[in-house]
Amino acid sequence: MKTLIICEKDPAAEKFAEFLNADPRNGFWESPDYYIVAARGHLIGTTLKGLRGWNLPIFGFRWYVPKSSLEKLELIRQLYTNSSNVLIATDWDREGEVIGERIVAYLTGKLNKYCLPDRIYFSALTKTEVLRALNNVMCMNETLLAQGHARNYADTVIGLNLTKLLTKIYKIDLGYNELSQALSMGRVQSPVLSYIIKSTSVRFRLDSKIENFEHETVRTFIHTDECDIEVEGVTIPQDVSEVELEGYEDEEFEQEQAVHLPNTDDAFWEIHLDPHITMEIMESLYLRGFITYPRTRSTSAPDYVLKELEDTLRQYDLLQSPNFTHSNVVSGTSEAGKLPLLPTPEGIKAYADGLLSKRDLVVFTWLLARVNKAFAPPLKIKRKYAIIKYNLQGNQFTEKIAWGEDIENPDDVVGGVLLSTLPEVQPGKYPIVRIKIKKKTADVTGGSKNEFYRLDDKDIVSWMSLEKLGTEATRQIYAPLLRERKYIDEANLPTQVGEVVSKLITKIGLDTTLTVEMESRIENVSSLSDLSGFTQWVNDVTTELINRVQNVDVSEIDVFKCPKGHKAQLVNRFWNGKQVLLLKCGVCNKLYPI
Ligand SMILES: [Zn+2]
Repeated sequence: MKTLIICEKDPAAEKFAEFLNADPRNGFWESPDYYIVAARGHLIGTTLKGLRGWNLPIFGFRWYVPKSSLEKLELIRQLYTNSSNVLIATDWDREGEVIGERIVAYLTGKLNKYCLPDRIYFSALTKTEVLRALNNVMCMNETLLAQGHARNYADTVIGLNLTKLLTKIYKIDLGYNELSQALSMGRVQSPVLSYIIKSTSVRFRLDSKIENFEHETVRTFIHTDECDIEVEGVTIPQDVSEVELEGYEDEEFEQEQAVHLPNTDDAFWEIHLDPHITMEIMESLYLRGFITYPRTRSTSAPDYVLKELEDTLRQYDLLQSPNFTHSNVVSGTSEAGKLPLLPTPEGIKAYADGLLSKRDLVVFTWLLARVNKAFAPPLKIKRKYAIIKYNLQGNQFTEKIAWGEDIENPDDVVGGVLLSTLPEVQPGKYPIVRIKIKKKTADVTGGSKNEFYRLDDKDIVSWMSLEKLGTEATRQIYAPLLRERKYIDEANLPTQVGEVVSKLITKIGLDTTLTVEMESRIENVSSLSDLSGFTQWVNDVTTELINRVQNVDVSEIDVFKCPKGHKAQLVNRFWNGKQVLLLKCGVCNKLYPI
């Protein structure tokens, strides 16, 4: 009998088939020992019992099999029947656990129960990683699974209840369409929307403004007898008429410049792309086996992985200097044994062979540079001192003044380092003294001016990370989601609907505090038995939110307006082949896009 391997996506299943010498069949792969099949995301859906009614809140959480999954599940069931065991090989995160566990629950006919199926964990779709994982079959990580279920529950219950309520409040004409097409208000997307709207500003002004700046600058002075001069903490009294240079002294020291190994957040900050595009590219590189799994918090990796990485980089001459090595890597954090974001040996080879597209290269060359920075040796710095001597009231004083610094290993510099040069000093003459002085300047700004500020997706992801909203696996989806829902436009500017919904969100207090608390409660779910406490808390929160919305005076919240300013109604219609929300104006007798 064979083992059935369930992957998350088709390209991952194809990689497994390649590594296990399995042949393509109709919708799956087969070898003497294995069947391999891809789930293509969540096959089992979540909903609430009683969703058709208007008595809120509703808590009848349940799993169901959507029509769109039937064919796939039937295929998986057939393979399962002909297999001795099943192995979950979905992506290594909460979502991957739930996708895999739900399929096994379905196959064993126990959709209303949790299970802990056999699982393999791998950080890269490379032959080495996959074979290593197959030799190390584990039981699914209960904590990760329970957290996945917690998140699913919270999203379903809060999301569906609030969405339903919005539809009710704004009397949206749903036509014959599904509820999911109406206005939505999720636990993460709502605070994000409010933040975007708060941060987007357009201001027109006519006034001029003078601003005074105080900043430090370095000036070179000839030492005179007009005043005391302070140089790097050394005061030369004004009575001194002559300063003699006695000589120089060097001090050598090392300065760490290596950065930690990169993870998902680093990619989002440092690559100049919208984070969801960065994630798309990373995902595609990952699915071809060229980089490690792109959703990771880890910034440290085992020595054997780094050794192999270093050897491969050296083989293709991709290290900045011979002093760059994995033994320079500074310690980082590790997330459940996951690898950081790294190029794989296969990826480096593909890069060297010129097989990567320009789009791939945006991410891949960043990774190469980033790994170099992590492998960088310390800077060797030589600080130069001038020893000066002067007489004052018959006593002789000697002082040591720092003049500048030299980098002894310029080939190893990975960041921008400012090299100070040593000023020329003539023995016996007054030294030229570099001193720091405060300088005041005035800057005139303003006049007739249009000040405009908007967030790009990177700003949004970075704010979410600071606020601990969402996870590194999901942060990049919210800006595109809000655009798709027409709460913001393609330039991330709020739409009319977005502003109206945001006002309601603010009124009922669905803010970051609640979402962050939920995130931390999800983090604290450590076993499946913790779930009942968590779901009770979600139910209480939902009830509270619903009560607050019901107490809001709807007339206080803006109504929708047609482009001509008439009061309009939101309707859900079939438009250009798609289900969309439109504004219906009774005065104009017309439908308008949002
Ligand atoms: Zn109108």
